[in-house]
Amino acid sequence: MIKVAIDGYSSTGKSTMARSLAKAVGYRYIDSGAMYRAVALFALQNKLIKESVIDTNGIIDRLDEIHINFMISPTGTQRTFLNNHDVEDDIRSLKVSSVVSQVAAIPEVRHSMVELQRKLGSEGGIVMDGRDIGTTVFPDAQLKIFVTASPETRARRRFNEMIEKGEQVDFDEILENIKERDHLDETRTVSPLRQAPDAILLDNSSMTLQEQSEWLLEQFRLCDNN
Ligand code: C5P
Repeated sequence: MIKVAIDGYSSTGKSTMARSLAKAVGYRYIDSGAMYRAVALFALQNKLIKESVIDTNGIIDRLDEIHINFMISPTGTQRTFLNNHDVEDDIRSLKVSSVVSQVAAIPEVRHSMVELQRKLGSEGGIVMDGRDIGTTVFPDAQLKIFVTASPETRARRRFNEMIEKGEQVDFDEILENIKERDHLDETRTVSPLRQAPDAILLDNSSMTLQEQSEWLLEQFRLCDNN
């Protein structure tokens, strides 16, 4: 069983692709972004972020109080738990999205999450998506994909997704958040968002989710046969 690393920009549909591949081949899927989101939620809940100002030392001091795990719901979807509470919906809010990249740039936070990610993937048979899976978490992954699309395409997808969930959202605010996260992810000192030299680049701006999933399954088969 191999390790599959799917990295790329936010809202490129990489989680959907990764989840669909994991299901098709019977692997475990791990959403590493959900872990950083859970840390950001913990910081918000514990007043370690006030008016977008991050208390970095406060977060570092309380890292050992943050316990993240994943469980499968009765409908078969994966849910994120923070200290035994299901936070899957809360971590997707725009409030969390607007601070998560700053939290994810804290080296101690990354260190702790990478350790957990490696533990979860130690036996292979895993599809993990994120920003640094192919470069830092599993540089030995046998299949690495780097996904990109224009910021406008990604904002439109995210906007439609949130409208479908019945949320009140503003397109420009989402586009702004996406561009800001791209910038923070690309310029942070520890594990910045980069395509690994051995990753396959996929620009999915004009692909449907089904086309992407079929393409990924094909890449997996080619890799698994070698
Ligand atoms: O994947 P998602 O957009 O949910 O991730 C939320 C944020 O977590 C990203 O914008 C990025 O700042 C951070 N992240 C990261 N490294 C990962 C996964 C996510 O820094 N492996």
